[in-house]
Amino acid sequence: CGIIGCVGRGDDTLDTLLDGLDTLEYRGYDSAGVALANGSVQTAKKAGELDALREHLADRSPSGTVGIGHTRWSTHGPPTDANAHPHCDCTGEVAVVHNGIIENYQTLRDELATDHEFVSDTDTEVIPHLIEDALADHSPEAAVRATLDRLEGSFAIAVVIAGTDAIFAARQDSPLVLGIDDDATYLASDVPAFRVHTDRVVYLDDGQFVRLDADGYTVTDFDGTPRSPSVETVDWDP
Ligand code: GLU
Repeated sequence: CGIIGCVGRGDDTLDTLLDGLDTLEYRGYDSAGVALANGSVQTAKKAGELDALREHLADRSPSGTVGIGHTRWSTHGPPTDANAHPHCDCTGEVAVVHNGIIENYQTLRDELATDHEFVSDTDTEVIPHLIEDALADHSPEAAVRATLDRLEGSFAIAVVIAGTDAIFAARQDSPLVLGIDDDATYLASDVPAFRVHTDRVVYLDDGQFVRLDADGYTVTDFDGTPRSPSVETVDWDP
């Protein structure tokens, strides 16, 4: 299971995501997927090996300057195309990748079921639907924060929202690290996923939220208190 994300790669976004997922293969997975955002959000996902996803993408090549990708190790629901990440809300404007387990997903799903249609068996799918509801009276960033308050369990998540040139991400008991370059910013479960692009990294702590833009990043606690984790330089070559 692994997460990759990048902002600022331009036409290179899809390749950056797929190459990053390749390097996370060692973590184990049964399905894979990507979401790219420009004005709208486009997702593609497949059960099986990364090659199955690559084949599926061959005749579509989604584009965007913001992207997230995922390799799934199923905990809730079998490895099917529908259960692969990213998961979306009803409008298709919010896409989420998640590593970990949302312990209170059944309660949240029961609460959401009257107004939201669920298309997977995963615990993860409650997250985009919670964000969709929160977007009714919050900014994109505030909507993701408000959603984090509702989640119990372990998670590293990354979110893209149509019309927003940023990735929102957070960690609680699942790894997440940032890669910092001059004109692009990355996030991943582990450094090898973006090491070929940059050697400057920021390790997030549990309870931290980050907004990634092409020209930088902002780290806070879930409640918005600013944090300034140090930037470290890795001393090994890709
Ligand atoms: N619990 C989620 C699922 O089953 C995420 C699994 C993972 O960490 O890859 O889809």
